[in-house]
Amino acid sequence: MATRIMVVDDDPLVGELSSALLRDAGYEVELVDDSIRALELIKAKPPAVAVLDILMPGLDGMTLCHRIKSDPGTKEVRVVIVSGKAFHADRKRALDYGAELFIEKPYDVDTFAKQVAALIAGQAPPPPAATEEAKLGTQEQAGAETKLTMTVWGCRSLSPFKGGEPSRYGRNTSCVSLETESDILIFDAGSGIVPLGREIVKNGRYKDLWLFLSHFHQDHFEGLAEFAPAYTPGYKLNISGANDPGQALQDRVQRIFETAPPDLGALQAELQLFEMMEETYEVLPGVQVSPYFANHPGTTLGFVIDLAGLRFSYSPDAEIYGEEGTALQDYDERLGRLIQGSDLLVHDGRYLDSDYQTRKNNGHSSYVNTVHLAARSGVKRLVLFHHDDAYTDAILDRIDADAQKIVADKGYKMQVVMAREALKIGI
Ligand SMILES: [Zn+2]
Repeated sequence: MATRIMVVDDDPLVGELSSALLRDAGYEVELVDDSIRALELIKAKPPAVAVLDILMPGLDGMTLCHRIKSDPGTKEVRVVIVSGKAFHADRKRALDYGAELFIEKPYDVDTFAKQVAALIAGQAPPPPAATEEAKLGTQEQAGAETKLTMTVWGCRSLSPFKGGEPSRYGRNTSCVSLETESDILIFDAGSGIVPLGREIVKNGRYKDLWLFLSHFHQDHFEGLAEFAPAYTPGYKLNISGANDPGQALQDRVQRIFETAPPDLGALQAELQLFEMMEETYEVLPGVQVSPYFANHPGTTLGFVIDLAGLRFSYSPDAEIYGEEGTALQDYDERLGRLIQGSDLLVHDGRYLDSDYQTRKNNGHSSYVNTVHLAARSGVKRLVLFHHDDAYTDAILDRIDADAQKIVADKGYKMQVVMAREALKIGI
Protein backbone atom coordinates (compact mmCIF):
# COMPACT_ATOMS: atom_id res chain seq x y z
CA MET A 1 0.00 0.00 0.00
CA ALA A 2 1.49 3.31 -1.07
CA THR A 3 1.98 6.11 1.45
CA ARG A 4 -0.79 8.73 1.11
CA ILE A 5 0.05 12.37 0.59
CA MET A 6 -2.38 15.27 0.25
CA VAL A 7 -1.32 18.30 -1.76
CA VAL A 8 -3.29 21.46 -0.93
CA ASP A 9 -2.75 24.25 -3.42
CA ASP A 10 -5.14 26.68 -5.08
CA ASP A 11 -2.78 27.21 -7.99
CA PRO A 12 -3.61 24.36 -10.40
CA LEU A 13 -0.22 24.48 -12.15
CA VAL A 14 1.86 24.14 -8.98
CA GLY A 15 -0.59 21.69 -7.45
CA GLU A 16 -0.46 19.41 -10.49
CA LEU A 17 3.31 19.59 -10.67
CA SER A 18 3.78 18.68 -6.99
CA SER A 19 1.27 15.84 -7.34
CA ALA A 20 2.94 14.45 -10.47
CA LEU A 21 6.41 14.49 -8.88
CA LEU A 22 5.16 12.67 -5.79
CA ARG A 23 3.16 10.15 -7.83
CA ASP A 24 6.26 9.41 -9.89
CA ALA A 25 8.09 8.73 -6.65
CA GLY A 26 5.51 6.06 -5.84
CA TYR A 27 3.12 7.85 -3.50
CA GLU A 28 -0.66 7.89 -3.58
CA VAL A 29 -1.49 11.58 -4.02
CA GLU A 30 -4.71 13.52 -3.62
CA LEU A 31 -4.78 17.11 -4.87
CA VAL A 32 -7.24 19.47 -3.16
CA ASP A 33 -7.55 23.10 -4.26
CA ASP A 34 -9.67 24.33 -1.34
CA SER A 35 -8.10 24.53 2.12
CA ILE A 36 -11.34 24.30 4.12
CA ARG A 37 -12.34 21.16 2.26
CA ALA A 38 -8.78 19.86 2.73
CA LEU A 39 -9.09 20.15 6.52
CA GLU A 40 -12.34 18.13 6.47
CA LEU A 41 -10.69 15.43 4.35
CA ILE A 42 -7.61 15.30 6.57
CA LYS A 43 -9.80 14.89 9.66
CA ALA A 44 -11.84 12.15 8.00
CA LYS A 45 -8.79 10.17 6.85
CA PRO A 46 -5.40 11.58 7.88
CA PRO A 47 -2.73 11.17 5.18
CA ALA A 48 0.91 10.52 6.08
CA VAL A 49 1.94 13.91 4.75
CA ALA A 50 0.15 17.15 3.84
CA VAL A 51 1.91 19.50 1.43
CA LEU A 52 0.48 23.00 1.92
CA ASP A 53 0.78 26.28 0.08
CA ILE A 54 0.84 29.36 2.35
CA LEU A 55 -1.17 31.84 0.32
CA MET A 56 -4.62 30.40 -0.21
CA PRO A 57 -8.10 31.92 0.05
CA GLY A 58 -10.17 30.73 3.01
CA LEU A 59 -7.70 29.14 5.41
CA ASP A 60 -4.13 30.08 4.62
CA GLY A 61 -1.49 27.34 4.84
CA MET A 62 -0.13 28.51 8.20
CA THR A 63 -3.54 28.38 9.83
CA LEU A 64 -4.25 25.03 8.22
CA CYS A 65 -0.91 23.73 9.56
CA HIS A 66 -1.77 25.03 13.04
CA ARG A 67 -5.21 23.35 12.95
CA ILE A 68 -3.71 20.03 11.82
CA LYS A 69 -1.01 20.11 14.48
CA SER A 70 -3.27 21.16 17.37
CA ASP A 71 -5.88 18.44 16.78
CA PRO A 72 -4.97 15.14 18.53
CA GLY A 73 -6.66 13.25 15.69
CA THR A 74 -4.45 14.77 13.00
CA LYS A 75 -1.29 15.95 14.75
CA GLU A 76 0.67 12.93 13.47
CA VAL A 77 0.24 14.14 9.89
CA ARG A 78 3.61 15.48 8.74
CA VAL A 79 3.30 18.93 7.23
CA VAL A 80 5.36 20.35 4.40
CA ILE A 81 4.88 24.05 3.67
CA VAL A 82 5.67 24.94 0.08
CA SER A 83 5.72 28.63 -0.50
CA GLY A 84 7.22 31.46 -2.47
CA LYS A 85 6.65 33.61 0.60
CA ALA A 86 9.95 32.51 2.03
CA PHE A 87 10.74 35.24 4.49
CA HIS A 88 12.69 34.13 7.47
CA ALA A 89 9.76 34.95 9.77
CA ASP A 90 7.40 32.75 7.77
CA ARG A 91 9.78 29.87 7.81
CA LYS A 92 10.14 30.20 11.56
CA ARG A 93 6.39 30.55 12.06
CA ALA A 94 5.74 27.43 9.97
CA LEU A 95 8.19 25.45 12.09
CA ASP A 96 6.74 26.95 15.31
CA TYR A 97 3.33 25.77 14.17
CA GLY A 98 4.73 22.27 13.85
CA ALA A 99 5.50 21.99 10.13
CA GLU A 100 8.28 19.47 9.61
CA LEU A 101 9.62 20.94 6.39
CA PHE A 102 9.59 24.29 4.59
CA ILE A 103 10.34 24.29 0.87
CA GLU A 104 10.69 27.52 -1.09
CA LYS A 105 8.99 28.04 -4.45
CA PRO A 106 10.04 27.72 -7.15
CA TYR A 107 11.33 24.44 -5.86
CA ASP A 108 13.85 22.13 -7.47
CA VAL A 109 11.89 19.43 -9.34
CA ASP A 110 14.80 17.02 -8.98
CA THR A 111 14.88 17.13 -5.20
CA PHE A 112 11.29 17.93 -4.18
CA ALA A 113 10.05 14.32 -3.95
CA LYS A 114 13.33 13.30 -2.36
CA GLN A 115 12.95 15.88 0.41
CA VAL A 116 9.46 14.57 1.12
CA ALA A 117 10.76 10.98 1.06
CA ALA A 118 13.49 11.91 3.55
CA LEU A 119 10.84 13.41 5.81
CA ILE A 120 8.78 10.21 5.62
CA ALA A 121 11.92 8.22 6.42
CA GLY A 122 12.29 10.30 9.57
CA GLN A 123 15.44 12.11 8.53
CA ALA A 124 16.30 15.70 8.00
CA PRO A 125 16.58 16.24 4.25
CA PRO A 126 20.14 16.09 2.93
CA PRO A 127 21.85 19.40 2.41
CA PRO A 128 21.76 20.64 -1.16
CA ALA A 129 25.49 20.80 -1.84
CA ALA A 130 28.52 19.42 0.00
CA THR A 131 28.03 17.37 3.13
CA GLU A 132 28.08 19.15 6.44
CA GLU A 133 30.75 18.24 8.94
CA ALA A 134 30.08 15.55 11.47
CA LYS A 135 30.32 16.44 15.17
CA LEU A 136 30.45 14.48 18.38
CA GLY A 137 28.61 14.85 21.64
CA THR A 138 25.37 16.32 20.32
CA GLN A 139 23.12 13.62 21.70
CA GLU A 140 21.12 16.15 23.66
CA GLN A 141 19.88 17.63 20.41
CA ALA A 142 18.56 14.28 19.30
CA GLY A 143 16.00 14.30 22.11
CA ALA A 144 15.97 13.58 25.81
CA GLU A 145 15.10 9.93 25.24
CA THR A 146 18.13 9.23 23.07
CA LYS A 147 20.50 6.68 24.60
CA LEU A 148 22.64 5.98 21.56
CA THR A 149 23.76 8.24 18.76
CA MET A 150 25.15 6.82 15.55
CA THR A 151 27.20 9.05 13.26
CA VAL A 152 28.48 8.14 9.78
CA TRP A 153 32.04 9.33 9.04
CA GLY A 154 32.57 7.40 5.82
CA CYS A 155 30.32 5.07 3.82
CA ARG A 156 32.01 4.44 0.45
CA SER A 157 33.69 1.40 -0.99
CA LEU A 158 37.37 1.55 -1.82
CA SER A 159 38.09 4.06 -4.52
CA PRO A 160 40.40 3.22 -7.37
CA PHE A 161 40.07 6.85 -8.47
CA LYS A 162 40.15 8.88 -5.26
CA GLY A 163 38.92 12.41 -5.38
CA GLY A 164 36.14 11.86 -7.91
CA GLU A 165 33.47 14.50 -8.27
CA PRO A 166 32.22 15.95 -4.96
CA SER A 167 29.36 13.98 -3.50
CA ARG A 168 26.60 14.79 -1.03
CA TYR A 169 27.11 11.26 0.32
CA GLY A 170 30.82 11.84 0.86
CA ARG A 171 33.90 10.01 -0.44
CA ASN A 172 35.42 8.62 2.77
CA THR A 173 35.51 4.86 3.33
CA SER A 174 33.84 2.93 6.17
CA CYS A 175 33.69 4.41 9.63
CA VAL A 176 30.73 4.78 12.00
CA SER A 177 30.68 5.92 15.62
CA LEU A 178 28.16 4.97 18.28
CA GLU A 179 28.03 7.22 21.34
CA THR A 180 26.46 5.94 24.54
CA GLU A 181 25.83 8.24 27.50
CA SER A 182 29.47 7.87 28.56
CA ASP A 183 31.49 6.11 25.88
CA ILE A 184 32.23 5.91 22.19
CA LEU A 185 32.37 2.76 20.10
CA ILE A 186 33.90 3.03 16.64
CA PHE A 187 33.27 0.62 13.80
CA ASP A 188 35.95 0.30 11.15
CA ALA A 189 38.88 2.52 10.35
CA GLY A 190 38.38 3.50 6.71
CA SER A 191 39.39 7.04 5.79
CA GLY A 192 36.33 8.36 7.69
CA ILE A 193 38.17 7.66 10.95
CA VAL A 194 40.62 10.50 10.17
CA PRO A 195 38.09 13.35 10.66
CA LEU A 196 36.57 11.39 13.58
CA GLY A 197 40.01 11.21 15.24
CA ARG A 198 40.50 14.96 14.92
CA GLU A 199 37.03 15.54 16.35
CA ILE A 200 37.72 13.21 19.33
CA VAL A 201 40.91 15.09 20.21
CA LYS A 202 39.25 18.48 19.78
CA ASN A 203 36.15 17.47 21.74
CA GLY A 204 38.16 15.88 24.57
CA ARG A 205 35.18 13.98 25.93
CA TYR A 206 36.33 10.41 25.28
CA LYS A 207 39.72 9.03 26.32
CA ASP A 208 39.07 5.29 26.42
CA LEU A 209 38.20 4.41 22.82
CA TRP A 210 36.75 1.15 21.50
CA LEU A 211 37.41 0.30 17.88
CA PHE A 212 35.87 -2.74 16.19
CA LEU A 213 37.37 -3.79 12.88
CA SER A 214 35.11 -5.86 10.62
CA HIS A 215 38.00 -7.12 8.45
CA PHE A 216 41.27 -6.21 6.81
CA HIS A 217 40.27 -5.00 3.39
CA GLN A 218 41.89 -1.66 2.75
CA ASP A 219 38.70 0.43 2.86
CA HIS A 220 38.17 -0.70 6.46
CA PHE A 221 41.57 0.12 7.94
CA GLU A 222 43.22 2.64 5.60
CA GLY A 223 42.59 5.57 7.99
CA LEU A 224 43.95 3.94 11.16
CA ALA A 225 47.53 5.11 10.64
CA GLU A 226 46.25 8.71 10.68
CA PHE A 227 43.95 8.40 13.70
CA ALA A 228 44.92 11.44 15.78
CA PRO A 229 44.25 10.01 19.30
CA ALA A 230 46.93 7.36 18.63
CA TYR A 231 49.53 10.14 18.59
CA THR A 232 48.11 12.17 21.48
CA PRO A 233 49.02 11.48 25.12
CA GLY A 234 46.26 10.28 27.44
CA TYR A 235 44.33 7.98 25.12
CA LYS A 236 43.67 4.28 25.39
CA LEU A 237 42.83 2.48 22.19
CA ASN A 238 41.03 -0.85 22.54
CA ILE A 239 41.05 -2.52 19.14
CA SER A 240 38.96 -5.61 18.49
CA GLY A 241 38.87 -7.71 15.37
CA ALA A 242 38.57 -11.22 14.02
CA ASN A 243 40.69 -14.05 15.22
CA ASP A 244 42.02 -14.70 11.73
CA PRO A 245 44.05 -17.92 11.50
CA GLY A 246 46.12 -16.31 8.71
CA GLN A 247 47.45 -13.37 10.69
CA ALA A 248 47.19 -12.25 14.28
CA LEU A 249 45.37 -8.97 14.97
CA GLN A 250 48.39 -7.83 17.00
CA ASP A 251 50.72 -8.19 13.98
CA ARG A 252 48.39 -6.42 11.59
CA VAL A 253 47.80 -3.44 13.87
CA GLN A 254 51.46 -3.17 14.76
CA ARG A 255 52.41 -3.12 11.11
CA ILE A 256 49.91 -0.35 10.38
CA PHE A 257 51.49 1.93 12.98
CA GLU A 258 55.05 0.88 12.15
CA THR A 259 54.59 1.77 8.51
CA ALA A 260 52.76 5.05 9.22
CA PRO A 261 54.42 8.18 7.81
CA PRO A 262 57.05 9.33 10.35
CA ASP A 263 55.79 12.93 10.34
CA LEU A 264 52.73 11.75 12.28
CA GLY A 265 55.03 11.40 15.30
CA ALA A 266 55.48 8.61 17.82
CA LEU A 267 52.63 6.38 18.93
CA GLN A 268 51.40 7.71 22.29
CA ALA A 269 48.16 5.87 23.00
CA GLU A 270 48.07 2.76 25.11
CA LEU A 271 47.05 -0.08 22.77
CA GLN A 272 44.94 -3.01 23.88
CA LEU A 273 44.04 -5.72 21.37
CA PHE A 274 41.21 -8.25 21.55
CA GLU A 275 40.72 -11.08 19.10
CA MET A 276 37.05 -11.89 18.86
CA MET A 277 35.15 -15.08 18.05
CA GLU A 278 31.44 -15.68 17.62
CA GLU A 279 30.59 -15.04 21.25
CA THR A 280 29.05 -12.33 23.36
CA TYR A 281 31.46 -9.97 25.12
CA GLU A 282 30.58 -7.38 27.73
CA VAL A 283 33.15 -4.77 26.68
CA LEU A 284 31.86 -2.07 29.00
CA PRO A 285 29.34 -2.27 31.87
CA GLY A 286 26.01 -3.06 30.24
CA VAL A 287 27.39 -2.97 26.69
CA GLN A 288 27.29 -6.39 25.02
CA VAL A 289 29.01 -6.94 21.71
CA SER A 290 28.22 -10.09 19.73
CA PRO A 291 30.40 -10.48 16.64
CA TYR A 292 29.38 -12.96 13.96
CA PHE A 293 30.94 -14.12 10.71
CA ALA A 294 29.58 -12.21 7.74
CA ASN A 295 29.24 -13.49 4.18
CA HIS A 296 32.27 -11.78 2.65
CA PRO A 297 35.67 -12.97 1.36
CA GLY A 298 38.28 -13.48 4.10
CA THR A 299 37.47 -13.53 7.79
CA THR A 300 34.88 -10.77 8.19
CA LEU A 301 32.81 -9.86 11.19
CA GLY A 302 29.45 -8.21 11.61
CA PHE A 303 28.59 -6.81 15.07
CA VAL A 304 25.42 -6.74 17.16
CA ILE A 305 25.50 -4.34 20.10
CA ASP A 306 22.94 -4.67 22.89
CA LEU A 307 22.68 -1.89 25.40
CA ALA A 308 19.91 -0.70 27.70
CA GLY A 309 17.30 -2.70 25.79
CA LEU A 310 18.41 -1.26 22.45
CA ARG A 311 20.03 -3.14 19.59
CA PHE A 312 22.43 -1.69 17.03
CA SER A 313 23.84 -3.87 14.25
CA TYR A 314 26.69 -3.13 11.86
CA SER A 315 27.62 -5.19 8.85
CA PRO A 316 29.32 -3.08 6.19
CA ASP A 317 30.44 -5.85 3.85
CA ALA A 318 28.17 -8.84 3.44
CA GLU A 319 26.28 -10.52 0.66
CA ILE A 320 22.62 -11.29 1.14
CA TYR A 321 21.53 -13.83 -1.45
CA GLY A 322 17.88 -12.83 -1.67
CA GLU A 323 15.30 -14.97 -3.36
CA GLU A 324 17.76 -16.36 -5.88
CA GLY A 325 19.83 -17.99 -3.15
CA THR A 326 20.04 -21.77 -3.31
CA ALA A 327 18.99 -24.08 -0.50
CA LEU A 328 22.65 -24.43 0.47
CA GLN A 329 23.11 -20.69 0.81
CA ASP A 330 21.50 -20.31 4.21
CA TYR A 331 23.27 -17.09 5.17
CA ASP A 332 20.15 -14.93 4.83
CA GLU A 333 18.25 -17.00 7.33
CA ARG A 334 21.13 -16.93 9.78
CA LEU A 335 21.61 -13.17 9.41
CA GLY A 336 17.89 -12.63 9.87
CA ARG A 337 18.08 -14.34 13.27
CA LEU A 338 21.19 -12.41 14.32
CA ILE A 339 19.87 -8.94 13.53
CA GLN A 340 16.31 -9.71 14.61
CA GLY A 341 14.53 -6.67 16.01
CA SER A 342 17.47 -4.27 15.62
CA ASP A 343 16.50 -0.69 16.42
CA LEU A 344 19.12 0.39 13.92
CA LEU A 345 20.93 -1.70 11.32
CA VAL A 346 23.79 -0.38 9.19
CA HIS A 347 24.18 -2.85 6.33
CA ASP A 348 25.84 -3.30 2.97
CA GLY A 349 23.46 -2.21 0.20
CA ARG A 350 26.16 -1.50 -2.33
CA TYR A 351 24.70 -2.43 -5.68
CA LEU A 352 21.83 -1.63 -7.96
CA ASP A 353 20.00 -4.88 -8.63
CA SER A 354 21.17 -4.79 -12.27
CA ASP A 355 24.83 -4.52 -11.19
CA TYR A 356 24.42 -7.22 -8.58
CA GLN A 357 23.43 -9.71 -11.29
CA THR A 358 26.96 -9.52 -12.73
CA ARG A 359 28.75 -9.27 -9.37
CA LYS A 360 27.30 -12.17 -7.43
CA ASN A 361 29.54 -13.96 -4.94
CA ASN A 362 31.76 -10.88 -4.51
CA GLY A 363 30.57 -10.43 -0.95
CA HIS A 364 28.33 -7.38 -1.38
CA SER A 365 24.56 -6.98 -1.53
CA SER A 366 21.94 -5.48 -3.78
CA TYR A 367 20.08 -2.85 -1.74
CA VAL A 368 16.82 -4.55 -2.80
CA ASN A 369 17.77 -7.77 -1.00
CA THR A 370 18.99 -5.79 2.02
CA VAL A 371 15.72 -3.86 2.33
CA HIS A 372 13.57 -6.99 2.14
CA LEU A 373 15.66 -9.04 4.57
CA ALA A 374 15.94 -6.22 7.12
CA ALA A 375 12.20 -5.52 7.05
CA ARG A 376 11.34 -9.20 7.40
CA SER A 377 13.71 -9.43 10.37
CA GLY A 378 11.83 -6.76 12.28
CA VAL A 379 14.50 -4.07 11.88
CA LYS A 380 13.10 -0.66 12.81
CA ARG A 381 15.58 1.51 10.91
CA LEU A 382 17.93 0.49 8.14
CA VAL A 383 20.89 2.53 6.93
CA LEU A 384 22.02 1.45 3.45
CA PHE A 385 25.81 1.52 3.58
CA HIS A 386 29.02 0.96 1.60
CA HIS A 387 28.03 2.82 -1.55
CA ASP A 388 29.90 1.85 -4.68
CA ASP A 389 32.52 4.50 -5.31
CA ALA A 390 31.69 4.61 -9.02
CA TYR A 391 28.09 5.62 -8.28
CA THR A 392 27.17 9.26 -8.82
CA ASP A 393 24.80 11.15 -6.54
CA ALA A 394 22.09 10.70 -9.18
CA ILE A 395 22.40 6.91 -8.93
CA LEU A 396 22.46 7.00 -5.13
CA ASP A 397 19.39 9.28 -5.14
CA ARG A 398 17.65 6.76 -7.36
CA ILE A 399 18.52 3.93 -4.96
CA ASP A 400 17.13 6.03 -2.12
CA ALA A 401 13.85 6.75 -3.91
CA ASP A 402 13.44 3.12 -4.93
CA ALA A 403 14.19 1.86 -1.41
CA GLN A 404 11.45 4.19 -0.07
CA LYS A 405 9.09 2.86 -2.72
CA ILE A 406 9.76 -0.79 -1.80
CA VAL A 407 8.99 0.00 1.85
CA ALA A 408 5.80 1.87 0.92
CA ASP A 409 4.59 -0.72 -1.60
CA LYS A 410 5.20 -3.64 0.74
CA GLY A 411 3.78 -1.77 3.73
CA TYR A 412 6.95 -2.48 5.73
CA LYS A 413 7.06 -0.82 9.13
CA MET A 414 10.71 0.10 8.70
CA GLN A 415 12.47 3.32 7.85
CA VAL A 416 15.26 3.25 5.28
CA VAL A 417 17.94 5.90 5.15
CA MET A 418 20.88 6.22 2.77
CA ALA A 419 24.19 6.53 4.59
CA ARG A 420 25.98 9.82 3.98
CA GLU A 421 28.79 11.52 5.85
CA ALA A 422 27.58 13.40 8.93
CA LEU A 423 24.32 11.44 9.05
CA LYS A 424 23.36 11.22 12.71
CA ILE A 425 20.62 8.99 14.09
CA GLY A 426 19.56 8.83 17.71
CA ILE A 427 17.87 5.77 19.19
ZN1 LIG B 1 35.65 -6.00 2.19
